[in-house]
Amino acid sequence: MADEIRNGDSRVRVVRLLGHRDDAAAWEIRDFLKRSVVEFQWIELPTEEDCRREVGLSDLKNVNLPVVELPDGTRLFGPTLRDVADRLGFVAKPKLRQYDVSIYGAGPAGLSAAVYAASEGLSTVLIERSAVGGQAGTTSMIENYMGFPQGINGADLAERARQQAVKFGVEILMMREGVKSTFHDDRIWTDLADGGTMVARANVCATGVEWRHLNLPNEDKLLGRGLYYGAGASEAPLCGGEDVYVVGGGNSAGQAVMHLAKHARSVTMLVRDKALAASMSQYLSERILGAANVQVRYDVEITGLDGENALERIRIGSRTTQEADWAATPRLFVAIGVCPTPIGPPTPPSFAIQAAISSPVPTS
Ligand SMILES: Cc1cc2nc3c(=O)[nH]c(=O)nc-3n(C[C@H](O)[C@H](O)[C@H](O)COP(=O)(O)OP(=O)(O)OC[C@H]3O[C@@H](n4cnc5c(N)ncnc54)[C@H](O)[C@@H]3O)c2cc1C
Repeated sequence: MADEIRNGDSRVRVVRLLGHRDDAAAWEIRDFLKRSVVEFQWIELPTEEDCRREVGLSDLKNVNLPVVELPDGTRLFGPTLRDVADRLGFVAKPKLRQYDVSIYGAGPAGLSAAVYAASEGLSTVLIERSAVGGQAGTTSMIENYMGFPQGINGADLAERARQQAVKFGVEILMMREGVKSTFHDDRIWTDLADGGTMVARANVCATGVEWRHLNLPNEDKLLGRGLYYGAGASEAPLCGGEDVYVVGGGNSAGQAVMHLAKHARSVTMLVRDKALAASMSQYLSERILGAANVQVRYDVEITGLDGENALERIRIGSRTTQEADWAATPRLFVAIGVCPTPIGPPTPPSFAIQAAISSPVPTS
């Protein structure tokens, strides 16, 4: 099913995802489907009546939400991300006992490495713990990548790279995570989080970066319930009529602002610096400053998050005067930079080869 449901094959019905608006599990699945270029329909179930009409069950409190309805009509109640990926046909078993190259991380760097390795005739396996595309898969528009003069959606770029890799014979194993590698018998043995072991003659570690957090109280509780890291590609269409906030002053934050501005009533960008120029490409800052429903607040930072079951308001403090005020908002997108992905808790990174593969899409 995996390739059929990608790219909106018209012969197949789309995946339907049903649930509560502020359910973090539903957000996680929406985000995964969007990044994996799986066409899906999100259906909110605010009332018993909606639940009865859409799911055929009226006891909303006792339905294990979210519900994922697959193209063949099968329903999964309260599935994990892995369940969903598995049922979509994305989770495969390794075909070989040993590979020439194993690559950890299917962002732009890992995908590039896979294409080049496999095109040279090396048996290549690409291991990804989540969706193919990494950070690039989360952005609505990449404009500085060679060969796409009109720009390209990040998930579409990743999907093209995935197809190219598969064409050269790369095996992609999703929902698997490398945690520790050791070198013996002239081979690298990598432990996977699910208990498996991958054996290869060479490893490439292309595990990229993770979003920096605000480190504020309530952050974990509100994640996926109005608070999101990154551009929120899957959430933007759900922001209609809302006044939303983006914190960060770099290109990622800028792209998030422009994408959200197409859907939200207003977008307020919160920037630590006193101008956008310091951290953003000029073409992007010009667009932001010219957008009618976007305003930028400079010299500020977020100092508080509040909400019972979902985000309700954020506290914005001046960096100069230390004065602060609360602003009501249902959604905050955090794009305040990244840090290297830690590998294999609790042991420190021990990959035998930390290949310095340069990404075709430089960090913004
Ligand atoms: C919103 C946004 C907009 C952006 N816009 C642009 C732009 O317009 N132009 C531009 O040049 N750049 C842009 N970037 C930056 C660009 O996306 C990154 O530079 C690029 O994705 C880095 O690629 P990477 O493969 O090194 O790492 P990543 O993209 O971080 O990918 C790493 C992958 O490794 C996986 N992984 C991590 N640990 C493990 C493990 N132990 N086992 C298996 N898998 C693992 C992760 O799940 C991830 O998929 C943007 C980034 C964001 C977030």
